[in-house]
Amino acid sequence: MATKTISELDIAGRRLFVRVDFNVPLTPDGKVSDDTRIRESLPTIRFAIEKGARVILASHLGRPKGKPDKKFSLEPVAARLAELLDAEVTLTDEPVGDGARKVVSDLRAGAVALLENLRFSPLEEANDEGFSRALASYADIYVNDAFGSAHRAHASTVGITRFLANKGMGLLMEREVKFLGKLLGEVERPFVAIIGGAKVSDKIGVLDNLLGRVDQMLVGGAMANTFLKAKGGQLGRSLVEEDKLALARSFLRKAEERGIDVLLPRDAVAAAGIKADSVRVVQSMAIPEELAALDIGPETARGFADTIARAKTIFWNGPMGVFESAPFAAGTLAIAKAVAAAAGALSVVGGGDSVAAVQKSGLADKITHISTGGGASLEFLEEKKLPGLAALET
Ligand code: ADP
Ligand code: MG
Repeated sequence: MATKTISELDIAGRRLFVRVDFNVPLTPDGKVSDDTRIRESLPTIRFAIEKGARVILASHLGRPKGKPDKKFSLEPVAARLAELLDAEVTLTDEPVGDGARKVVSDLRAGAVALLENLRFSPLEEANDEGFSRALASYADIYVNDAFGSAHRAHASTVGITRFLANKGMGLLMEREVKFLGKLLGEVERPFVAIIGGAKVSDKIGVLDNLLGRVDQMLVGGAMANTFLKAKGGQLGRSLVEEDKLALARSFLRKAEERGIDVLLPRDAVAAAGIKADSVRVVQSMAIPEELAALDIGPETARGFADTIARAKTIFWNGPMGVFESAPFAAGTLAIAKAVAAAAGALSVVGGGDSVAAVQKSGLADKITHISTGGGASLEFLEEKKLPGLAALET
């Protein structure tokens, strides 16, 4: 089985369907508030235009409940894309139908059309055969560049590929597979994984799979609380997944058997709540009853940074604390700085909030690869077969 890339497909003059991820955040008055995802798609779109393809873009946006809803129209996205490309982008009035067919059949070589929000039909997420066939009927060739949706089997990511034998990955998808794939292959050591964020249950699959690959694992965020409690710690009012204590215990046992260091926080920044104004640094195993651990403490941050400084391969998912709130952002920022400073190391960051934290730190350009896939990058590292990728194999 092999998967082609867009540069291996003969797209000149052909009708090219490109599944992109334009699921961008909007402002209350319906403007694009962050165009990162549109920008990430530009290399593939520009490549297709330059090759003289007739480009048909398709994406979902938000959760419009399977029916047209003006709030979720791709109109502001089409406008922003037209600005970025400095070219006309024709938005269809619905994802499939007579209007869409007309727009697509009038497309000239090098011109760009955008289908209206795919989730205006319930058939998209249902991976419906008829809907898939309708989408496929607009094009000769299919390219998927929406890595963030590759873990979903929908009509535009999977169903459509049954009707278009000519298919492959876009440039962004290719980059994601290349860098995330490196982490699953022979890597330079030490290989350090930094895992944080909200829940053990979200990440246990990745933790398990990475355990067999990394040399050290640094655990922070609310997730660390569950591990600390599993080791007998007093966690006060911290977020703890009580029903995951046994899972955490068995994970720590497995790590010990394999000789993998799992480093948990030694100190924590604690407060009565996110809005509380008195913030204290306390021992992570002895959080006072009335407080919650909301960030890793300075000693932990230094220790983690030392380990990161020696790493040759780094994967980071999940913030170290409630980074959205300034008093609890220092731990996450310290990690971002350490990862950015790890000269010569391959560094990959994945996960919606971790990526947001790295962007906020202004250090994004010092990281080898920032994954655009939240759930998709985690499933990739769990070595689950992503349906959107499997569907591209020929
Ligand atoms: P990602 O999107 O990078 O995979 P997650 O979604 O798993 O990350 O977790 C991010 C969330 O975890 C953030 O909203 C952050 O505020 C929260 N969080 C991190 N540490 C803590 C903590 N100690 N207590 C409560 N929430 C936390
Ligand atoms: Mg998240």
